[in-house]
Amino acid sequence: MTTILGIWAHPDDEAFVAGGFLADAVRRGDRVVCMHMTSGEGGLLDRQPCPPETLARVRQHELQDSLAHLGVEEQRFLGYPDGYLDYVPRDDVVARIYDELIEVQPDVVLSFGNDGFTGHPDHSTLSASVTTALEVWNQPEARLCHAIVSSEWKERFVPPLNEFDVFWPGYPTVCTSPDATLHLDDELLDAKVEALRAHTSQMKPFFDAYGDDFMRAMASTEHFRLPDRVGLGSRANEGMASATDLEPDQSRDALIKGSR
Ligand SMILES: [Zn+2]
Repeated sequence: MTTILGIWAHPDDEAFVAGGFLADAVRRGDRVVCMHMTSGEGGLLDRQPCPPETLARVRQHELQDSLAHLGVEEQRFLGYPDGYLDYVPRDDVVARIYDELIEVQPDVVLSFGNDGFTGHPDHSTLSASVTTALEVWNQPEARLCHAIVSSEWKERFVPPLNEFDVFWPGYPTVCTSPDATLHLDDELLDAKVEALRAHTSQMKPFFDAYGDDFMRAMASTEHFRLPDRVGLGSRANEGMASATDLEPDQSRDALIKGSR
């Protein structure tokens, strides 16, 4: 059985950047584990609806509901402070992730790219820590997979999302040559949209402002890159034309095995 470990900073990261990939893996019978560094008690910057302790509990519950829509049954929190991961000694974060790698024994580790997807400092700090922990673990068969943003996705969805300050200034960084683009089928898309909706404290404003059609369109593709992996086709060909267009039943194998 293939084991996929998603390592995230906050509840909702998993659904937002890779909900389709995770649901696809579950549907295929893989073991999927999600790990969250924080409980998301910081909320979003300017619309925190309740005190941090309360929000942490709310978001933990929302996450359980959300993961149920994706079919993910294993989840663990590492209990770091939301918004302050960069202030925690890096060695401590790396050591905790390393311990989880030993315990979970993933074949694939899924997380943010170096830019942190949205540019959130917790995300980019986490990405660097995951890379270091994997280097220490030193399992050549284990794959690291980064969720990234394509230029097409950025142009279409970042401006409306940024009405709610989702992305930090200067972000997202566009990846011009994703290793894989996953097009969600209806079943995966339904699961992902409901998983997003379950993160009510974070996602309700988007559903309210833009409606289900926008959210479905935004959620319908996911882009991934395999950092420092070779043999996945020419990186010399820049642009989306060089990306692998994958149907759900192809995505996992392409990302895991590195073959097309
Ligand atoms: Zn986040």
